[in-house]
Amino acid sequence: MAIQLFVPTFRVEECLSEIRECLEKGWTGMGFKTVEFENKWKEYTGYENAHFLNSATAGLHLAVKVLKEQLGWTDDDEIITTPLTFVSTNHAILYENLNPVFADVDEYLCLDPADVKSKITANTKAIVFVGMGGNIGRYYDIVELCKEYDLKLILDAAHMSGTKYAGDTVGKEADVTVYSFQAVKNLPTGDSGMICFKDKSYDDIVRKYSWMGINKDTYSRSGSAGTYKWEYNVDHLGYKYNGNSIMAAMGLVGLKYLDQDNAYRRQLATWYNNNFKEYTDKIKTIPVPDKCETSNHLYIIEVGNRDELLEKLNEHEIYPGVHYKNNIEYSLYDYAKDTCPNTDRISHKILSLPMHMRLTKADVDYVAEICLRYAK
Ligand SMILES: *Cc1c(COP(=O)(O)O)cnc(C)c1O
Repeated sequence: MAIQLFVPTFRVEECLSEIRECLEKGWTGMGFKTVEFENKWKEYTGYENAHFLNSATAGLHLAVKVLKEQLGWTDDDEIITTPLTFVSTNHAILYENLNPVFADVDEYLCLDPADVKSKITANTKAIVFVGMGGNIGRYYDIVELCKEYDLKLILDAAHMSGTKYAGDTVGKEADVTVYSFQAVKNLPTGDSGMICFKDKSYDDIVRKYSWMGINKDTYSRSGSAGTYKWEYNVDHLGYKYNGNSIMAAMGLVGLKYLDQDNAYRRQLATWYNNNFKEYTDKIKTIPVPDKCETSNHLYIIEVGNRDELLEKLNEHEIYPGVHYKNNIEYSLYDYAKDTCPNTDRISHKILSLPMHMRLTKADVDYVAEICLRYAK
């Protein structure tokens, strides 16, 4: 039987019963379950603000937009970011006409604070940190760097649902944290995301931007009678980025099982690690910092013959993935060529092994055995 990289697993009956509530009520849009999910997310994470969106990409865009607008950043101001990520992270910077400046990654495949520091200029306004595969890397050093240089911190937590440090949610230090509940993330829905601003006033603003710029606040302040309920003002050029109740219904069920599922992911990672630990000459694993309870959205290894090993695994009906191609190799970002040598090297050596809730220890041992047989 083929072993896939990701197979999202849903508690089908529970999801259906949450969705049924939406259908019976006749309410599948924004409000109702989206509010319930935002509240449950705040309860679970400890964030003061959380706004449910149709994707993390939308969230990253709005994170950059709101900060730029509120803090008076101008076009071509710089945001330091990682080249080892899904392109959403970096597109979000370009959407707002800001300039992505790439810093290199470290052994955690996350931003290396020393290289970030060397790339700070008078135009730097913010840093975007990606917790690769749920790993926090040197996130807390980046938090300190942001304080020292008065920079804003955007956390792309697309892989970090449920990631904790010393028992607490990672991300509350950031000015804004964005989660993804896309179809194959570790808390999957169909497509959706959550944006969590530290500042309450930014949360108010992002709610307008995600809903076409419709200013319901003005409406409520105006104290209109019920007969004028349809009337609202539009004072921002907003977007159609809001989340809906069907996605929120799935998210509510996923959230209930998030810690349990992440614990099983860490178990799978431990089984992989145990297989590889005597063979570090062939297969390098990615370390996890002390006290970091990673979501283990991904399990990544580094080998000398990545492309060849991928082929061998495919021949054995094992289908791993790569996270990620160095973004600087895409023509849109090739202005930054040769600025991140470690990413240049490692992005050709990493592969992501199957990691999902349906894998057994026997599956993991089998995948590891094939890896060990062909890795060089
Ligand atoms: C998946 C992902 C995104 C985008 O998430 P969507 O919800 O699909 O928009 C952004 N950043 C990273 C690192 C991702 O893996």
